[in-house]
Amino acid sequence: MSEKIYEYKDEDNWFIGRWNGYNSLETLGGLIDESLSCLNQQLSSLNCNDIEKCDWESLGYAVTVINRKSDYLLISFVLDMINQETGRKLKAIRHEKAVLIVENETLLLVIIPEKGIALDDFMAGQKVQTQETILIATHNKGKTKEFTHIFGALGYKVEDLNAHPELPEVEETGMTFEENARLKAETICQLTGKMVLADDSGLKVDALGGLPGVWSARFSAPEATDAKNNAKLLHELAMVFEQKDRSAQFHTTLVLAAPKRESLVVEAEWAGYIATQAKGQNGFGYDPLFIVGETGRHAAELSAEEKNKLSHRGQAVKKLVEVLPSWLAKQ
Ligand code: IMP
Repeated sequence: MSEKIYEYKDEDNWFIGRWNGYNSLETLGGLIDESLSCLNQQLSSLNCNDIEKCDWESLGYAVTVINRKSDYLLISFVLDMINQETGRKLKAIRHEKAVLIVENETLLLVIIPEKGIALDDFMAGQKVQTQETILIATHNKGKTKEFTHIFGALGYKVEDLNAHPELPEVEETGMTFEENARLKAETICQLTGKMVLADDSGLKVDALGGLPGVWSARFSAPEATDAKNNAKLLHELAMVFEQKDRSAQFHTTLVLAAPKRESLVVEAEWAGYIATQAKGQNGFGYDPLFIVGETGRHAAELSAEEKNKLSHRGQAVKKLVEVLPSWLAKQ
C-alpha cells in the first residue's frame, strides 16, 4: 500500500487522497453528500470490476473533498490516483457536459450531470474525438517540445504550425505583447476550430521607455540578427553609465484560445540589467547582454535548465499550468 498523499488545489477545488483501503469520496467531516456518493459508485466500478478478486485492504482510493466545483477535475484526480497506484491508463475526456472515461481507446464509462444532457447536444458532435488537440502557434520545435510536456500530461495531443502548412503567417501588428499573442492564437483558432496557444516575448529596457519591447526581434530592422540587435542596444545605452539605470525585463505573454470561449492570458517577467559587454555562449537573442537580477551572471552563461527555472518563459509556463485546469473545467 502506498503511503503517498495526493492533493489537488485551485481557487474552486481542493481534494486530498490516500491509497488506503476502500474506494471512498467523502466530504471533510464525513457529511453525507448524495451527488458525491453517486459519483463514487460509478468511479469505484473502474477500480475493481471483479468483486471476488478485489482486495479492499490494498486496492482503494480514499479521497476527502474539501471544495468541489468541477466534477471533471475530481474525476481526473481519482483516475490519476488509480493510474499511479495500479498502472492503469484511465483518461477523462470532457464531451458536452458529460465526462467519458476511456482506457487504451476503449470507452469504459460515461458520467453525466444529475439532470442529464439533451440527446441532441450529446450526439451533435458526430464522432467523439478520443483525444483533443492543442495547436501551438509556432514553428519553433523547442517551444513545441516544452508545451508537449505540459499538455501531454493533461491528455492532449500537441501539434504545431509545421503540421499546418496551409495556414497563413499571422503578422504581429499589435502594440503590446498581449495583442500580438491574441492575434496569433485567436486568428488560428478561428481558422482551424482548434484550441490554440500562442506566445509573444521580448526585452523591455526602462531607460528606453520599454523598447525594444514588441519590436525585440526586429530592433535592428530591416535585416535584423541577434548580433545586430545587441549592437544597437549597446549603442542606444552608450550614455547610460550606471548599472542601476540600465534596468530591464524580459517579458512573456501566453494566450490560449478556444472556440466560443474567453481566451486565457498569463504573463511573466524576468528582471535584470543590460551589461556594457556581451558575455556567455548559451541561449539566444539578448541573453549575452542580460545580467540576471543581482547575480552578476549573464543569461547566456546559464545552462538551459538554469534559464528555464528563472526565465520569463519558464515562469509564464508555470503560471499556465496552475490556472489551466480550472479554465478547462469552465467549458
Ligand atoms: P519570441 O516572441 O519568443 O519569438 O521573442 C521575440 C524576440 O525577443 C526574440 O527574437 C529575442 O530577440 C527576444 N527574446 C525573447 N525571449 C528571449 C530570451 O529568453 N532571451 C533573449 N532574447 C529573448
